[in-house]
Amino acid sequence: MSASLPSDPRRRLPAVEALLAEPDVAALLGSHPRSVVVRAVRETIDAARANGGAAPPEGWGAAVLARAHQLAAPALGPVINATGVVLHTNLGRAPLAPAAIAALRRIAGEYSNLEYDLAQGSRGSRHRLCRDLLVELTGAEDALVVNNAAGALLLALSALARDGEAIVSRGELVEIGGAFRIPDIMARSGAKLVEVGATNRTHRKDYEGAIGPATRLLLKVHRSNFQVTGFTADLAPLEIAAIARAARVASLFDLGSGLLLDLSPWGLTGEPTVAEGLASGVDTVAFSGDKLLGGPQAGILLGTKTAIEACRTDPLARAVRSDKFTLAALEATLALYRDPERARGEIPVLRMLTEDVEQIRRRAETLHNGVGKDSEVVAGDSEVGGGSFPGAKLKTWLVALTADKLTADSVAARLRRANPPVIARIADDRVVLDPRTIFPHQIEQVARAVRAALDA
Ligand SMILES: *Cc1c(COP(=O)(O)O)cnc(C)c1O
Repeated sequence: MSASLPSDPRRRLPAVEALLAEPDVAALLGSHPRSVVVRAVRETIDAARANGGAAPPEGWGAAVLARAHQLAAPALGPVINATGVVLHTNLGRAPLAPAAIAALRRIAGEYSNLEYDLAQGSRGSRHRLCRDLLVELTGAEDALVVNNAAGALLLALSALARDGEAIVSRGELVEIGGAFRIPDIMARSGAKLVEVGATNRTHRKDYEGAIGPATRLLLKVHRSNFQVTGFTADLAPLEIAAIARAARVASLFDLGSGLLLDLSPWGLTGEPTVAEGLASGVDTVAFSGDKLLGGPQAGILLGTKTAIEACRTDPLARAVRSDKFTLAALEATLALYRDPERARGEIPVLRMLTEDVEQIRRRAETLHNGVGKDSEVVAGDSEVGGGSFPGAKLKTWLVALTADKLTADSVAARLRRANPPVIARIADDRVVLDPRTIFPHQIEQVARAVRAALDA
């Protein structure tokens, strides 16, 4: 730490009280809580001190004002996803369908029959919500909704394999992102992990050889965010289910994505549908609500009456239960699937994944016209994201920006400071915007943000 000399400008920093008395700052107290204004003043002084004691270039009053507005603004807000990654985990995964948003609004500000049986006038169970719809749509015997798929997995392993062994292939010990690893989840569930096979190859005899008196479950995990190619072998869920049945142990298939519609007519293949997962004959399948299903964050368990009832009555079920907002939005999203064409048109994730590329090109042209000469329309690819359809490329049309005086990084940073922030991608040293994930009503906003970013 260096000693402050008498001429050190840090000695000349204003006192908190003095800044609070400045007319600009004092006026802020009319519209903001005192605690916010005081914190803005302190942070502005601290920032100046860290900057060698220099006064903020915009002046003290303006600096405090800007910081107070920043502190008062909500930390969580909408952004425009111009990345072309449809299921972007950092950007909140699935945007909801209008019907799901309406369902949230209907219950948010009032009481609801969340756990109330209206016919009996007595306590009901939230677990009945969405259950019948899931059974109707998938043909599963029973269903349970929890907070997310990681929670569903934890719960199912606890209910079906606690204090026993669960067998899983070494090729499926995946990390899904955000430090979520299958082996760690299993350890917390109380099931002992028994790894079989090799990273690239696991055979029937590996599973059969590992089954013993302590075995309670065979686990199959869909490799959602990577592909294994080359000299590989693994068992289909159908075979896992058959081995488990013969050994009289449970079976669980972690599907990851929750694809309820077959998207192969749109060129998207390789991701098992929920129906295929169930048809394999495993006792239970687990998947997310906010990936390809296109609903709110949720974890869904489907399967036999016995397996799902064991999950429902496990003590962990209380710890991972879903809230009323999830159940309302999920019910409305699921109801759209009664008419698959309607689901595809109204659930944003499905609409974006199956949108006609000509329509995307028209949106790209509109954006390009709005931006002007500093942009061009070029062919490119969008991504599904969210660990779904790994490796799949969706043809798209991008608007690429050319900025002579600015680096791509600084253009992208300026777009992030727009209101609402625009999140773009950089490819070959250029900022590119993918209209696939930009809603039609946002095109004009994006054009304005780009013009401001390039002109500034
Ligand atoms: C995404 C994923 C999960 C976790 O789902 P969340 O809903 O995010 O908890 C678990 N397993 C697989 C295979 C996944 O792809």
